[in-house]
Amino acid sequence: PKYVYEFSEGNKDLKDLLGGKGANLAEMTNLGLPVPPGFTITTDACRHYLEHGAMPDGLDDAIAASLATLESAMGKRLGQADDPLLVSVRSGAKFSMPGMMETVLNIGLNDESVEGLAAQSGNERFAWDSYRRLIQMFGKTVQDIDGELFETAIEQVKAQKNITNDLDLDAADLRKLVEVFKGIVAEQTGGEFPGDPRRQLDLAVKAVFTSWNAPRAVLYRRQERIPADLGTAVNICSMVFGNLGMDSGTGVAFTRDPASGQQGVYGDYLQNAQGEDVVAGVRNTVPLADLERLDAHSYNELLAIMETLENHYRDLCDIEFTIERGKLWMLQTRVGKRTAAAAFRIADQLVDQGMITLDEAVLRVTGDQLAQLMFPRFDETAERRRLGRGMNASPGAAVGKAVFDSYTAVKWSRSGENVILCRRETNPDDLEGMIAARGILTSRGGKTSHAAVVARGMGKTCVCGAEELDVDTKNRRLTGPSGETIEEGDVISIDGTTGEVFLGEVPVVSSPIVRYFDGEIDPASDQADDLVRAVHRIMHYVDAARRLYVRANADSAEDAARARRMGAQGIGLCRTEHMFLGDRRQLVERLILADTDKEQQEALASLLPLQRDDFIEILESMDGLPVTVRLLDPPLHEFLPDITELSVRVAVAEARGEKHENDLRLLQAVHRLHEQNPMLGLRGVRLGLVVPGLFTMQVRAIAQAAAERTRQGGRPRPEIMIPLVGTVQELEIIRDESLRVLREVGEEYGVELDFPVGTMIELPRAALTAGQIAENAAFFSFGTNDLTQTVWGFSRDDVEASFFSAYLEKGVFGISPFESLDIDGVGRLIRIAVEEGRAARPGIKLGICGEHGGDPASVHFFHQVGLDYVSCSPFRVPVARLEAGRAAA
Ligand code: PEP
Ligand code: MG
Repeated sequence: PKYVYEFSEGNKDLKDLLGGKGANLAEMTNLGLPVPPGFTITTDACRHYLEHGAMPDGLDDAIAASLATLESAMGKRLGQADDPLLVSVRSGAKFSMPGMMETVLNIGLNDESVEGLAAQSGNERFAWDSYRRLIQMFGKTVQDIDGELFETAIEQVKAQKNITNDLDLDAADLRKLVEVFKGIVAEQTGGEFPGDPRRQLDLAVKAVFTSWNAPRAVLYRRQERIPADLGTAVNICSMVFGNLGMDSGTGVAFTRDPASGQQGVYGDYLQNAQGEDVVAGVRNTVPLADLERLDAHSYNELLAIMETLENHYRDLCDIEFTIERGKLWMLQTRVGKRTAAAAFRIADQLVDQGMITLDEAVLRVTGDQLAQLMFPRFDETAERRRLGRGMNASPGAAVGKAVFDSYTAVKWSRSGENVILCRRETNPDDLEGMIAARGILTSRGGKTSHAAVVARGMGKTCVCGAEELDVDTKNRRLTGPSGETIEEGDVISIDGTTGEVFLGEVPVVSSPIVRYFDGEIDPASDQADDLVRAVHRIMHYVDAARRLYVRANADSAEDAARARRMGAQGIGLCRTEHMFLGDRRQLVERLILADTDKEQQEALASLLPLQRDDFIEILESMDGLPVTVRLLDPPLHEFLPDITELSVRVAVAEARGEKHENDLRLLQAVHRLHEQNPMLGLRGVRLGLVVPGLFTMQVRAIAQAAAERTRQGGRPRPEIMIPLVGTVQELEIIRDESLRVLREVGEEYGVELDFPVGTMIELPRAALTAGQIAENAAFFSFGTNDLTQTVWGFSRDDVEASFFSAYLEKGVFGISPFESLDIDGVGRLIRIAVEEGRAARPGIKLGICGEHGGDPASVHFFHQVGLDYVSCSPFRVPVARLEAGRAAA
């Protein structure tokens, strides 16, 4: 295979092979933009190296050939003593992993070529600074030397000279540092810093390959669900220098604001600096707009290039560039990450500008982003004390206790605390703490600093660069501009939408997007801002485009009404168990304790009107739309008092000689109903078969409620659903009884009650015998919670809190199968049941009502497999609508 591609040979669609950076460098090269020449080593080569521990055959020659081409294009050789070609060696995987993998700059410098570089540039300081950077970066990333050793050496020189700024180190200081650094290398590795340029290059390439499996990279991939076996490409690019003086510099730019989506000029620029200085946020940058004043020519060229790129990619692009003595160079571009609000706004603007169609626009936003926009935010009318302000790096409202290191963030959050991670700046070692925290606050670095980029990627609230705050990580303290102090554990509130930081807890309010979905904000009125209008336009479009219907899981009239406002087209699961709690528990106790048929009938008779009234309300809320009512599912002991409590009560009463007959009977019942494994015990359809009259009472209540609604002029559309069926025989018995009750009540009321009776598919056996079951079921609804539980043999109530974190850490799965459907296992059963169910009963209605109904990836699967609807909690309804539309687009 071809392991090396010149930039001019690739294009943006080769991300699998060339990584994102390499593919886009190639694309820019072919667009005629000023990209320093270079070449890319493929991910194939990386995978080979990681698998075999050795470079593939032919790679060495391919690198030599491309290097020779590069050298002849540049008119100088790598590391040439009197005029060296220098190159950068940068990682670049298919998916961007900011700061997770390695980069080495200035490859090609050694004791001779540093003099050549000094002579050629006429800048001795620059040459020695570049050399010490090479030894430092090479030492850290290739030779695994603790970076602190180099930092400390720099600090010592600065202290001796009594200076604080790196820029005040002169050529002689840097020359001295190079010697010190070489000493560190010798001491730490027992060898010399390699002066041979080609050897430097080869070692750097291997280090980049190896960094694919660095712990922080592994963790990041798991978090972002990036496959572990992709490998990284390596880009070898001729160096251009932003640190040649004040007419040089380096920066990052966005074609639109990645936080808000507004059009304009966004970015940061740093004079006299080399690439990583900006992203690391170690020195403070100026806004990109200031570049116009500093270097109008480069600024105008950059703006023109940004326009070219946006028109070419038809999307927001982010860019890294360097200016070397007034000449602009493009070092990187890609379709940029953005916040949820920016995603909707940009998609909407691009449609307006005729750049993309609405069909494309729906693919530019996701259900996860929509869910983020539905998060609550701080109440602007509440009293609040502002501590300071930074940059609005990633939106949201986060409240928590201030912590100052990653370790404490993880520890406290494990014990249930909400924490805000406060750092001067973050680096990849802070990743775990960032994941654990509710929000992230830094006092340094811009919107492109590590903290900002990573937080946006995770959808986590972040305020960065709050310079008026002094973050003292050593003493675990944060000090405000007027001397207010926040100690570790004190509560603060951070607003990632405005960049504000508040003392104490600020109350949060619902988001305008939720108010829009709730019908409180009319998208056509001037109450609606451009974000509401963008969301409205896209939702309107996906509703027309999707094939899946979206229903809600709701078991009260209130939830039903809310779900309907959110766009639910019916109820896919009305659980009836809550209707037996509260005051009604006593009636259930009477039912369970009944010794005679008569007592049992009386208990059921007293439950009937209560149930009927519940159903009347729900059917009214969902008038005209289907309401799937599930007959009682949980084991009966859930309705009885706790066994320990009850035993104590009985014992105490006994000791005091008090009357306790009733409690004693209850206790006996609890013992009788006690099961080792209640989720696999007497529940679901099994209750209907062994507790006489229970299910028929529920069906009667549904039938009477529907008859009442019809009398009131409504259009009730209940559907009766039988849970936990494993064999068609169970279903047949309950179905026949149900149809009989419907007929009886219909005759009583003189109305036709011809409602569908169907079943849940939530046991593997039900899925595997779906053909038989379908003959007796008007519909199937997949109960993917129980189906996941029974397919994996995972207790759904226990495992997530017990060993799932270990499973996620070890990469057994990337996400809990209770959260996102296990398509290979559970999904396979669903596929079988859909096929065999449809074959046996063409036109059978198929839905899903487990938690997966509101999970974006799962919704796409349900669309593909051909279900008719998904049902999810009311708040997820908009997310499911959007994803159903995206699946169909
Ligand atoms: C299911 O099992 O997926 C389901 C919807 O039912 P429940 O969660 O009530 O068991
Ligand atoms: Mg279930």
